[in-house]
Amino acid sequence: MIVGIVGLGLIGGSLGLELRSQGYRVLGVSRKAATCERAMARGAVDGAAVDYGILASADLVFLCPPIGAIPATLTQLLPHLQPQAILTDVGSVKASIVEAIAPLWPRFIGGHPMAGTADQGIEAAHLGLFRDAPYILTPTATTPPDCVAAMTAIIQALGSHLYTCSPADHDQAVAAISHVPVFVSAALIANCEQEPDPQVRKLAQAFASSGFRDTSRVGGGNPELGRMMAQYNATALGRSLRAYRDRLDHLITQLEQQDWDHLEAFFTTTAAARPAYVAPHSPPSPPTHQPGPAGGGL
Ligand code: NAP
Repeated sequence: MIVGIVGLGLIGGSLGLELRSQGYRVLGVSRKAATCERAMARGAVDGAAVDYGILASADLVFLCPPIGAIPATLTQLLPHLQPQAILTDVGSVKASIVEAIAPLWPRFIGGHPMAGTADQGIEAAHLGLFRDAPYILTPTATTPPDCVAAMTAIIQALGSHLYTCSPADHDQAVAAISHVPVFVSAALIANCEQEPDPQVRKLAQAFASSGFRDTSRVGGGNPELGRMMAQYNATALGRSLRAYRDRLDHLITQLEQQDWDHLEAFFTTTAAARPAYVAPHSPPSPPTHQPGPAGGGL
């Protein structure tokens, strides 16, 4: 199988390194010629160019540019694809992408590897990025089964855990565990900055230690990431943020009512719930987890 990759950055480059190590022939396209050269030098691709014609022989193509660049890359890519080529993407949101691409290319299947680092670009690409990480596919009722099967085989080659769900369920789940935390964490930093007494603010900065380091990490990162989440996952993010605000309002009421017993009970519940989200390699129960090659989960 010849695999094509558009966008040779952290995710695209890491896919190339991994798939080449598994014997796939990998061809790449990126915006800059220098990136194509680096990708070849690093062994992430067998060949790469800024011209999409290089992907004319590809059997399966991964779209790996930033989400905002997907429409433009698609316009350039589609005229070169052979009719049977399978198209997939790696974008961190799914509903808006699937709705945009599926009508243009019926052999498209949305995907999202839940793996990454704080670094970007081809230099950040590395082997093993996807190993033991969840990889979500979001087929719809019209996705051809052979596209699901081909992606299932690739995800197994990457060493990832395959999940399938609808694009909407993906976006709601990712809003809850990834996008809301970024907004909450950023609001936490802004809340500290809003302290009107400069002396107290200075003390807070001096006292902040590992707890604040943990809780502020995702809110103090890449501003483009926060914008991407808001812009492309607005509905699910808004729903989850409103639920979070309601939860805070409830906690404030309990605080004002000095309802210490219920507050303690609440923290007992959250302490018991947390391991299900953060325990290593703990995929949730079926039907969302489809570990085997038959994992269609439509
Ligand atoms: P990245 O490291 O910045 O890589 C994106 C690459 O795309 C860049 O290296 C750039 O290469 C290329 N590119 C930019 N605009 C392009 C265009 N118009 N046409 C062709 N190539 C273009 O970003 P990334 O972290 O790999 O993210 C890529 C995708 O993966 C995003 O859709 C994101 O949602 C998804 N994703 C990211 C993570 C994560 O943690 N980073 C995790 C899961 C999924 P040039 O040097 O050629 O400009």
